[in-house]
Amino acid sequence: MAGLKVLFATSEAAPLIKTGGLGDVSGALPAALRAIGVDVRVLMPGYRRVIGQLVKVKTVASFDNLPGFPSARLLSGWMAHGIPFLILDCPSLYQREGGPYQDAKGHDWADNPLRFGLLSKIAAVLGSGASPLAWHPDLVHCNDWQTGLAPAYLRLEQGGAPSVITIHNMAFQGNFPPATVQELHLPPSCFGVDGVEFYGHMSFLKAGLFYADHITTVSPNYAKEIQRAELGFGMQGLLAARSGNLTGILNSIDTDEWNPATDVYLVKKFSAARMAGKAANKESLQGRLGLNIAPDVPLLGVISRFTHQKGLDLLLEIMPRLVGLPVQLAVLGSGEAQMQRSAQGLSHRYPGEVGVNIGFSETLSHQIEAGADIFIMPSRFEPCGLNQLYSQRYGTPPVVHATGGLVDSVVDCTAETLKDGTASGFVFKGMTAENLFTAIRRAVYLYHDRRKWKALRRNCMAKDFSWKSSAEAYRAVYLKVLGR
Ligand code: ADP
Repeated sequence: MAGLKVLFATSEAAPLIKTGGLGDVSGALPAALRAIGVDVRVLMPGYRRVIGQLVKVKTVASFDNLPGFPSARLLSGWMAHGIPFLILDCPSLYQREGGPYQDAKGHDWADNPLRFGLLSKIAAVLGSGASPLAWHPDLVHCNDWQTGLAPAYLRLEQGGAPSVITIHNMAFQGNFPPATVQELHLPPSCFGVDGVEFYGHMSFLKAGLFYADHITTVSPNYAKEIQRAELGFGMQGLLAARSGNLTGILNSIDTDEWNPATDVYLVKKFSAARMAGKAANKESLQGRLGLNIAPDVPLLGVISRFTHQKGLDLLLEIMPRLVGLPVQLAVLGSGEAQMQRSAQGLSHRYPGEVGVNIGFSETLSHQIEAGADIFIMPSRFEPCGLNQLYSQRYGTPPVVHATGGLVDSVVDCTAETLKDGTASGFVFKGMTAENLFTAIRRAVYLYHDRRKWKALRRNCMAKDFSWKSSAEAYRAVYLKVLGR
């Protein structure tokens, strides 16, 4: 759409910086939108190491007198693949050792309200008549709580562009003490049910959901689930009331970054037509994780944050039974200390059969998608989930719990779905260890039926995961908001 200009505000974007799905989406969606003619620019904080990854960096604005905020600069620069970035440079807030949200020990940065208050504020300024830039967006697209205050600033103060907020995970809300309202120079009157107040706190996410002109989330099924108490995390009433302005758009994946035919992290590349290379990746993965080299034992893969959401406790619980099937398990992840200890405990108990790598590794994550036979994702809730998409693309059928985007992106394998060519994994209902075990056992049985397994893999790898149709759905939302 000629002339449609969108400021995409986010707290992370792959490959510059990523902690999870938000980073993947922020890395890929702007490119897909630009490919269909939307002029998108990405606003992100200038964390350590981010600025050095951009080219043609220059200062385009300074902000020295924003009440309540330290001085900051705005830089413009380009990502290698041609995406224009606006980087919010404020070294006292963003240039530190540690992650975007937490220090190296895993504690939230104490000044997160200020850090993401400033990010939201600048997004709003750039979307308003007060912007120092010549480029004026028609719309500001915010993502998750970190930019959730932008719609509030836009509506309450600046009278600027309309806004859209995308929920990538309702569990992260950015709730802070009421005094934050004053600290971030929001009008006191907004601290109420019809505003930023949420159970006595001020909530960045609530602000976004209340003030944005439209809300999207990352799968159609999750859009329904968050309107109910079970998965609405207290915001279900507001979301149900706004259901006419709530759209679920399924995430896609960066099909260049995640392509087994060209993936630089793989020991051997492969494709649906030339599957032989997958076996070499399995052998290499087994070697890397200290597993027995066993071509015919199904290798289960896991890549995950270690948190209650992801349901790995159930997998660890049934591992003694699974090992007897037999299967092997390759795990990459980090997070809650107790879960890390349990996973490592299993690798000591079953050397050669369970391999665990604690940490964050882009390389190993690609190698697990490629080298595993079956991907395991028993999330208690999952807004969209990306690993089940990557795994299908790599011919690694996923076993998933019937929740959120997993329902929208995996078709359970039955006699009928195998026959009609839609089967792409194994879906279990009811979040119990027994149900997970039964689903994995179904996958393992099918794995040993070479002909059917090949058919299942082919289905997975034939699916279209490109961003084009999702980008078109976002553009349709933008146009609806703008009344065009
Ligand atoms: P979430 O955003 O809830 O963590 P998603 O499945 O939507 O879950 O996205 C997770 C993204 O982060 C995927 O790209 C996944 O590969 C990646 N990821 C998660 N944990 C790790 C890890 N330990 N090492 C490398 N990548 C990881």
